[in-house]
Amino acid sequence: MKTPYFLVDEKKVRENAQILASVMEKTGCRILLAQKAFSMFSMYPMLRKYLAGTAASGLYEAKLGHEEFGGETHVFSAAYRPDEFEEIAEIADHIVFNSPNQLLKYAPIAKAHGKQVGLRLNPECSTQEGHEIYDPCAPGSRLGTTNAQFDRSLVPMLDGVHMHTLCEQNSDALEQTVAALEEKFSDVLHAVKWVNLGGGHHITRPDYDIDRLVRIIEHVRDTYDVQVYLEPGEAVVLNAGVLKTTVLDLIENNGVQIAILDTSAACHMPDVIEMPYRPPLIGAGEPNEKKYTYRLGGPTCLSGDVIGDYSFDAPLSVGDVLTFGDMALYTMVKTNTFNGMMLPSIAMLKEDGEIACIKTFGYEDFKNRLS
Ligand SMILES: *Cc1c(COP(=O)(O)O)cnc(C)c1O
Repeated sequence: MKTPYFLVDEKKVRENAQILASVMEKTGCRILLAQKAFSMFSMYPMLRKYLAGTAASGLYEAKLGHEEFGGETHVFSAAYRPDEFEEIAEIADHIVFNSPNQLLKYAPIAKAHGKQVGLRLNPECSTQEGHEIYDPCAPGSRLGTTNAQFDRSLVPMLDGVHMHTLCEQNSDALEQTVAALEEKFSDVLHAVKWVNLGGGHHITRPDYDIDRLVRIIEHVRDTYDVQVYLEPGEAVVLNAGVLKTTVLDLIENNGVQIAILDTSAACHMPDVIEMPYRPPLIGAGEPNEKKYTYRLGGPTCLSGDVIGDYSFDAPLSVGDVLTFGDMALYTMVKTNTFNGMMLPSIAMLKEDGEIACIKTFGYEDFKNRLS
C-alpha cells in the first residue's frame, strides 16, 4: 500500500470497546461513540456489538451514526441551523441544546417528533491545566448553560441534562466535576430522566481508575434516579491505530538534521500543531536519547509543518517507512487537502492479520471541494 495511510487495529478497537462494555454491564450506564474523534464507519458494525449508539455534533455526524451505526443517536450542537433542525428531529433520539434560547426555539419541534430533549449545563469547574482550548469551563466559554443563565422555569421542558468538561482525564477529575454539578444543579438533576456526562474520560488508558468511575456512575444513578450516559471519543480508539509514512528527503540546516516525510502535521494530524503535542513514533526516542536525531516535517509550504524532533539508533534513509502511534483519534476526522496534499488512505488491520485497504483518495478529492 502507498503511504501515507492510517492503519487501524480491529483487535485493539474491540478490546477498548470491551472495557467500555464492562462499565455498561456493571452500572447500567449507556456508552456512545463520540464520532467527532473517530468516524471510520467501516468499523461501526463491530463497535455496535458493544456500544449503545453514537454522539454527534450536528446533522452530518447524526446522519452518519444513524445510517451506519444504529442504536441511539444523540446530538449536541452549540447552535442548530433552522434549515437543518427538522431533519435532525427526524433521525436523532436525544437532542441537547446549548442555551435556553435554543431550547425554547427548537424543543417544541423535537417534542412533536417524540424526541428526548436536554440542555447542556456548564458546571464552571475547570479541572485541566495547559490545554486552554479544550476547557469548556473557562470563563467566557460558549459551551453549556451556567447557573446564572439558567431559568428554572425551563426545567419542565427537560428530559435530561448533559455536560462535557473533560479532556483525556482520569475519574478523579470526573468526581470533582460531578460534585460541582450537584452543588449548582441538584434540583435539576432530581427533575430529569437522564444525565449525560459527556466525553474526555480516558477509560481505556492503563492507569484509568475504572472502579472510581463505576462508583460515580452509581452515585448519580441512585441519587437522582436517572439513566447515565457517557460519550467518549478518544477512549474508544485509544492506541488503536498508526499512521505510516515514508521519508522523502533528508536535509540539514544549521546543524539540524531534517527529514521531509510524505505526511504533514498541518494536513494529516493538525492536533499536533493545534493542541499542541508530540505524537509517539514507534522505535524512536526523545531528541538526543538515541544516536541520530532528526526533525520530522511535512512536504507543505508551511514553515511550522513540523511533527517534532525524534532520535533513532541508525541514520534515516530516503525511502524508510516510519510509524506514528495513537493515530486513530482526531486524525482522519481532521484531515484536509491544504497545499494540495494527498489524503492518507484508510486501512484496517483485521483480527486475522490481513490488512484491508478500505479507501484511497486522489486528485478528485482535492478538486471536488474547490471550484
Ligand atoms: C469532543 C466531545 C466528546 C468526546 O470527547 P473525547 O475527549 O474524545 O472523549 C463527547 N461529547 C462532546 C459534547 C464533545 O464535544
